[in-house]
Amino acid sequence: MEYLGHWGDRPLTISLKPNGLTVSLQHSGRADVYSFDAAGRLWTALHEGVSYRRGLNGKVIAKWKTAGRDRDRRWLTVEESDALLARANHWLCELLEEVHAGQPNLSPAIPAPIIAALETARRFDLHLAHQDALAFAQVYRPVGILPPDQYMALTLQATEGCSFNTCTFCDFYRDRPFRIKTPEEFQAHARAVKDYLGAGLTLRRTIFLGDANALVVPMRRLVPLVEIVHREFDVEQLGGIYAFLDGFSGERKTRQEYSRLVSLGFKRVYLGLESGHDPLLQFLKKPGSAADCVAAVRAMKDAGLAVGVIVLLGAGGRQYAAPHVRDTVRAINAMELDMDDLIYFSELVESEGMAYVTAAYQAGLKPLTPAERARQAEEIESQLRFSAIGGTPHISRYDIREFVY
Ligand code: SF4
Repeated sequence: MEYLGHWGDRPLTISLKPNGLTVSLQHSGRADVYSFDAAGRLWTALHEGVSYRRGLNGKVIAKWKTAGRDRDRRWLTVEESDALLARANHWLCELLEEVHAGQPNLSPAIPAPIIAALETARRFDLHLAHQDALAFAQVYRPVGILPPDQYMALTLQATEGCSFNTCTFCDFYRDRPFRIKTPEEFQAHARAVKDYLGAGLTLRRTIFLGDANALVVPMRRLVPLVEIVHREFDVEQLGGIYAFLDGFSGERKTRQEYSRLVSLGFKRVYLGLESGHDPLLQFLKKPGSAADCVAAVRAMKDAGLAVGVIVLLGAGGRQYAAPHVRDTVRAINAMELDMDDLIYFSELVESEGMAYVTAAYQAGLKPLTPAERARQAEEIESQLRFSAIGGTPHISRYDIREFVY
């Protein structure tokens, strides 16, 4: 249902869908836009040319275009996030005051279903937003990372942490040991997530089985967990199941096992190839080899699973750059990817205390500049070859600094 009208002399547009509400008010040639899920949570906003994305954990990232650079971003402080929520809520209060006063300045009148949705969003005030973020933290361990096309997934944590936790460039799961949930625990988690999201579940587009590499779980333990997902949620309606399989060592799944996962609703698996160059993988302390990753991808593709392959730009600096490009091209070309698949170029993000930074310093590696990393992606991409029949995978950037859940 769409409302196109005016509030005074300002154009007002309200769009009500089963998955949420978007309200847009034009003023001085600009639009203020706020979007809420069906439970009333603010999740995106546009104000004075800056776009905001609010995660379920209450954190807000702001992004804007700059003159010289493509775009910029930063995380808001708690005070700034509160100010954004308060502004959206104030705005809804004013609009609903207008409605309750008989809509004298609104033309045409706003229909009742949209008013009900506006009331739901208005009730999600600062106090409720803080409570909601606390409730999120009760239901989830921090969601370390998701692939960019999965930021709107319904995440279910069948495991916690990473079974490897050795990769020097990755700090996502350092704070927790790896463990697989029991079926009882996982069922309780799935129900708690469902209760927590409430009507907001309609905004979730897929199911992501977390954490880092849930598919490392042996089939005899994985299948009962996936069956719980089916008991608690309509998997097909939610767009199927997605997961990471990261790091290759220990037990490996067969083509038949991947076929079983397809029959259980799995659609795509994301693999951190990072590099096709084995000495670089060893330097990064990434378990397994490029050949292991290629073999896993081919078994998955054979079984009917799509894949998302992640390449780490800038890994190993200048010293590794040439073999990194050469062998990564070779590995990806051997995967025989097609239009169902994704390739992500993820820039190495160094931070203080990260094991990679120390190792790179000790090895005397010269880091690539951001421009050189971007060129590395172009170099790899220009040498990738795909079959005319299967088509070309979607290739895009993956900036882990922008991850929000
Ligand atoms: S296997 Fe993946 S999640 Fe685990 S430490 Fe390595 S990069 Fe991080």
